[in-house]
Amino acid sequence: MKKILSGVFLLISFVCYSQQQDSAKSAKWKTIYRASATRINDLVNTKLNVSFDYSKSWMYGKAWITLHPHFYPTDSLRLDAKSMKINEVSVIKAGKNIPLKYTYDSLKLYITLDKSYRSGENYTVFIDYTAKPNDVKQKGSTAISGGKGLYFINPLGTDKKKPIQIWTQGETESNSGWFPTIDKPNQRQTDEITMTVPDKFQTLSNGILVSRRKNSNGTRSDTWKMSLPHAPYLMMMAVGEYSIIKDSYKGKEVSYYVEKEYAPVARKIFGLTPEMIKFYSRITGVEFPWPKYAQVVARDYVSGAMENTTATLHGESAQQDERQLIDENKWEDIIAHELFHMWFGDYVTCESWSNITENESFADFSEMLWEEYKHGKDAGDDHSFMAMQNYIRGGNEKKDLVRFYYRDREEVFDLVSYQKGGRILNMLRNFVGDSAFFKSLNLYLRTKKFSSAEAHDLRLAFEEVTGQDLNWFWNQWYFGAGHPKLYIDYDYSADGKTARVFIKQLQSGQIFKLPIAIDVYQGPEKKRYNVLAEHQADTFIFQTVSRPQLINVDGDKILLCEKTEHKNLDNYIFQYKNAGLYLDRREAIEFAARTQAEDHKAMDLMKTALKDRYYGLRIFTLQRLNLTIDSVKKAVEPILSEMAKNDPKSLVRAGAIEALGRLKKDEYRSLFLRAISDSSYSIAGSALRALAAIDTAAAFNQAKSLSEKHVKAELEDAITNILFTYSGENDYDSLAARFERMSNGYEKFMILQPFANYLKRIKNPVCFKKGIDLIVRFRDTIAEEDRQQIAAYFNFMILSGIASSKQSGGLTEQADYVKSKLPGNTKSPEVNAAKNK
Ligand SMILES: [Zn+2]
Repeated sequence: MKKILSGVFLLISFVCYSQQQDSAKSAKWKTIYRASATRINDLVNTKLNVSFDYSKSWMYGKAWITLHPHFYPTDSLRLDAKSMKINEVSVIKAGKNIPLKYTYDSLKLYITLDKSYRSGENYTVFIDYTAKPNDVKQKGSTAISGGKGLYFINPLGTDKKKPIQIWTQGETESNSGWFPTIDKPNQRQTDEITMTVPDKFQTLSNGILVSRRKNSNGTRSDTWKMSLPHAPYLMMMAVGEYSIIKDSYKGKEVSYYVEKEYAPVARKIFGLTPEMIKFYSRITGVEFPWPKYAQVVARDYVSGAMENTTATLHGESAQQDERQLIDENKWEDIIAHELFHMWFGDYVTCESWSNITENESFADFSEMLWEEYKHGKDAGDDHSFMAMQNYIRGGNEKKDLVRFYYRDREEVFDLVSYQKGGRILNMLRNFVGDSAFFKSLNLYLRTKKFSSAEAHDLRLAFEEVTGQDLNWFWNQWYFGAGHPKLYIDYDYSADGKTARVFIKQLQSGQIFKLPIAIDVYQGPEKKRYNVLAEHQADTFIFQTVSRPQLINVDGDKILLCEKTEHKNLDNYIFQYKNAGLYLDRREAIEFAARTQAEDHKAMDLMKTALKDRYYGLRIFTLQRLNLTIDSVKKAVEPILSEMAKNDPKSLVRAGAIEALGRLKKDEYRSLFLRAISDSSYSIAGSALRALAAIDTAAAFNQAKSLSEKHVKAELEDAITNILFTYSGENDYDSLAARFERMSNGYEKFMILQPFANYLKRIKNPVCFKKGIDLIVRFRDTIAEEDRQQIAAYFNFMILSGIASSKQSGGLTEQADYVKSKLPGNTKSPEVNAAKNK
């Protein structure tokens, strides 16, 4: 699974950091060990026959579930089945249904079998039921909002702008909202689903479409058969009016289900899939194990994307138009991530949610692997570094990667399981070497295929291949928390011709054992020393002929750490040119930026970096320019205007325009005006913002006229921002309509502050109240999805701000109106946080 809202949640977790303390009462989860589910009965096969009642959002189902006792004989069966109406439960004997006794409590179905069955003795129960997903009361989380399992989108067709769709989301244990099963990741089964739908709709499920039968009443029954075993949470269905674009990989169908409008660009979005399958098959040494690979896009999806076996489901942001794709395919990494799950997650599955690292750390890591392979080492390193920064900023230092204690199973889908886990794998790859690393993955996949695994299974595979005891690595990284915070210093003694490197570990908690590569440069020649830092403080001494130009600790730049280093500008300039990895260069740029105003050598490095071979570092350098300083402006202005016109990457041209905008010079007006109609949204958006910096009225007019056209992405963001920032009293209706059109997540969230500022400015009490109501409604939707911390943010940062602004402006009635929307006493965030729990 892939979340996409992490940016917002990072922001919020930072804002609300002080509210995360557990009260003693709610900390009971810390004592509950989350073991793998005990296997009494094993699923063998699930056969479903389903049809849908669009008017009630119900599903009528018949299930034939074949099982056998795992080891010990048993005469009972417990199935997960959420909010269903159970019509019949029987066992199939010689083709006949023999009714069974059962009790049902709306979550679990307790069945008494007709006799005691022995290990390996198959039996099939039949259940006739109605699934009522809207009655499922299961908490969602920041990873997945909602837990209904089955979703009807616009089922009555009342929203003319939205297609009618049905789709499912199983992870973690939500598929039991649409079929009775043992909803645990350590179960496996083959399956067969027959869906009866109106003939105009396409269907998708796991495995192969084995039959399509038209019925006399205008419906059609499609049967999908999955003949390889997989976990119940990976079963899926999707129904809707889709265009299906087909590619292939070694004779297997690779298909993309998109809304008709996106059929012409479907290959631009998903078309790299066959190449990805080939790449991942090659590096794992395990040929793509499944019979087909389909990807479908769903409206109002509750997460980013989900790796249902052979049928990945993507959120609607995957559907980008032609202009968006000029800048980049923002979904490429997610496509890679979900695909890699076909090996890590679907072929071998985590045995419990505590071991989710066996799925998600690999999928996260696969994004970097793909970037590296397809777009070069700099792109891979960039991706990896950003992921590490996200983890570090997230403040998750107390969480183990393999987590046996958690409040809610949805919580394990976090920056530790994904981003930190991905970086751990990258370190492991570096420590054991590429060849041993991929051989170990291959052994793990072959040993554990079509079954479930825990973190130790991975360790055993690595130990078998490398011949080393790797408990130390697993203990500190998989079963321990935090990361090293390194203080690194150097000195050189001319007498003894020795260089010394001091490494101190400043983190609280465990001291890490760290294999570190130290590169000592004398001239462009480098000598590598492989050392082991394993104490709170370590000193390493190297013989040299003269003072080294650079001592580069962590020469491959793979350590998962925070660090403080003591290098000077000359060291960094040398590092940029000679060490040369993405992070070597990035660190040098970052350091030079600090003295760009007063040190011409630093400025020279910045100028060099504006022409860096990797576009991401050109953008990074643009962002680091301090354009309030005259000397900096003078040094780079000609380069910026050249970059704005001629850089080969549209994102860099957009960055250069943004930088030119910071100069606030009217002479660039015509450049900005031209760029507003550029086909790249990022360029057009930057140009509109840049124009606003020199002429707000002109930018406002441009934004108004553009807002009538169909635009997306950065240009849409810029338009929205300018409209909310500069609109007057009379524009309320169009602004409100715009706000309502935005999605109930990231989009609305990003415009909250400008919207709040607008409401602070306007006087009209009717419009004001309507505006407050819109924000409150958005807050309450968020709160309903159990994102209490974000809802609290609305109260403290947004609504309270508006209230106090109105209060000080003498508009007491408006201030009181806002206060009436706040829960209780709003003086102290802590008080409210406690209330919201
Ligand atoms: Zn994932």
